[in-house]
Amino acid sequence: MAIQTVLLVEDDTRLSEVVSSVLTLAGYHAVVISEHALIPRAMATSRPRCVIMDGELNASGHNLSWSDAAAIRRVDPKVPVLMMTADRAALAEAEARRSTRSRAAGFAGFIGKPFEVQTFLATLSRVLEAPVSAHPSVDDRVVIFPDIGRPRADPPDVHLFDTVVHELRQPLTVIRGQLQLGRRHVGRDPARVQTAIDVSIAQVDRMTRLLGDLLDSARLAANVLDLRIGPVDLATVVATAIASHEAGDAHRISFRWPHGPVVVIGDADRITQILDNLLSNAIKYSEPELPIEVTLTLQGVEVELRVADHGIGIPADELARVFTPFYRASTAVSIAGTGLGLHISRRLAERQGGRLWLEASSGAGSVFALALPIA
Ligand code: ADP
Repeated sequence: MAIQTVLLVEDDTRLSEVVSSVLTLAGYHAVVISEHALIPRAMATSRPRCVIMDGELNASGHNLSWSDAAAIRRVDPKVPVLMMTADRAALAEAEARRSTRSRAAGFAGFIGKPFEVQTFLATLSRVLEAPVSAHPSVDDRVVIFPDIGRPRADPPDVHLFDTVVHELRQPLTVIRGQLQLGRRHVGRDPARVQTAIDVSIAQVDRMTRLLGDLLDSARLAANVLDLRIGPVDLATVVATAIASHEAGDAHRISFRWPHGPVVVIGDADRITQILDNLLSNAIKYSEPELPIEVTLTLQGVEVELRVADHGIGIPADELARVFTPFYRASTAVSIAGTGLGLHISRRLAERQGGRLWLEASSGAGSVFALALPIA
């Protein structure tokens, strides 16, 4: 029998790696794309037998998935679409066959995250084996995404809570999938088991970082984060932070500052936290051989620090959102991150009487600036 192609739409690269390994092991050909915008092209070039798409937990609910599923089903009614989601409410709705818009969008089935490999494969083969007539067809009489363009009814913290749960569930899903894959290979393929363990450890680290960031963010929001404010020699703090980010002998980060100590009023540890965030972003979002320039200048009653990189930059229409919690630029989807660092850094700068802003960003790089009061 010909190998069947399954198109997977998933923005989390670690999760898509697990799902595509599961698909490949089960004998399918997996084609993975990270963005919903790429669906039409992938449909045309890979001609999949089935599409599995992630649920989009954004400010307007699942609109992308519902409308995209309907679009696929309208264009090619023979291709069933499965939704993979961590949204318990959506799953419960679908299981109870209460979801009008899921049926209207023509979803052939749902896969919960985290998933059991066996259940996942069983759902997929059930959908692939069912006759085309068994799948719901798109119902144009139902308004599938009534929430598009409307302000969300939920207060913002409910949305934030959803996002936090989603962000914590993603690594759990990957860990579970990797452990299941590893278990299958115990005693047979030590390298595969080792990879499963390594990926799982990296995911545990990701969750730990995320929890630390969440705690800082919540403490800052509640104004209960204690700072130890005093005179700080910024030039020394910056030089130390840079040294901790330089790998080996390669000096890619340059540093220019006025002669002598530059003393500001702030909390040395929290200034280091801001610098770590700016430097790790400059490194993460640019090619390893490109330089990063850090400068300190005195401007009236403030010291201004700039971190300039020559990396991928942030699209012009997204610039206003970089300091929003959990915001990740469309250019950053394949690079690991929580979207909390800049938000926390800006709050930390403000708590120290300073400011943090994005001075410039384009395809040629970005410049972030931090101002702190001179002692
Ligand atoms: P993350 O953990 O995702 O890096 P941040 O809050 O530090 O979170 O940054 C938010 C988003 O801003 C990033 O996901 C990325 O899209 C974008 N960003 C931040 N710094 C840079 C940079 N130096 N170059 C390009 N994009 C950046």
